[in-house]
Amino acid sequence: MLFSGKTVFITGASRGIGACIARDFRAQGAFVIGTRTSTNSTYNDYCDEWHEADFSSESQILRCADFIKERDVDILINNAGININADFADIDLEVFKSIQMVNLLAPFILSQSALIKMEQKGWGRIVNISSIWGKISKQGRAAYSASKFALDGLTVSLSAEYSQKGILANCIAPGFVDTPLTRASTKPAELKDLISRVPIGRLGEVDEISKYVLWLSSEENTFMTGQNIAIDGGFTRV
Ligand code: NAP
Repeated sequence: MLFSGKTVFITGASRGIGACIARDFRAQGAFVIGTRTSTNSTYNDYCDEWHEADFSSESQILRCADFIKERDVDILINNAGININADFADIDLEVFKSIQMVNLLAPFILSQSALIKMEQKGWGRIVNISSIWGKISKQGRAAYSASKFALDGLTVSLSAEYSQKGILANCIAPGFVDTPLTRASTKPAELKDLISRVPIGRLGEVDEISKYVLWLSSEENTFMTGQNIAIDGGFTRV
């Protein structure tokens, strides 16, 4: 199996894309540690261990970072993310900050923690789940795009510093994937219109994202680092 003997830490593993990534890593023999915001969150049995943390709280990010330092994490998947759309002038400061904390600050701090053991072992993989809105943007997406464009910058810089140490870092930028986040953040009429502009003509499925996350995290990936790969049915290219 592709990940026997490897420990993977996946943020936001309770549902959506993160749950699928957890399921697929486990099926390939990994020991899977997942995060969710609370013990009342959606449960799945894809994770061998859970850690509860709400990344809109700095102290909870730091607690999660300490938890990672106690584990032997080979692969870190920064997947947890939130999106609240608002026109630029109407973006509430606290909302803006919490989006940056969940989507950017948590990946930064958790990566710092995971890198300690990865560096000792001379091997590691970090995959940050960005978005097409981290490659392009549109009205109402300023806070989300700011966080995801910055996540790309973080990833490129990480790869510049750590690739020669055997640690490869990449972003995956999903397009419209059929998850609760998509349904909650896109009005039905808008969704229909968006789908009509996706060359493949449909929403993506979570496992269509997960399989590339696994490949980037694997020993098979020996030369891809610092990339931001759109998996979007062609949306950002037409
Ligand atoms: P989702 O279905 O809404 O699930 C979000 C996950 O993140 C859940 O496990 C949730 O835990 C956790 N989470 C939510 N708020 C959090 C917080 N404040 N602190 C820590 N964890 C939190 O999301 P998704 O659609 O799978 O998206 C996953 C990632 O893909 C995100 O980074 C998103 O930006 C990105 N993405 C998604 C799409 C899409 O079409 N769905 C497209 C592009 C990019 P609880 O269950 O405890 O709330």
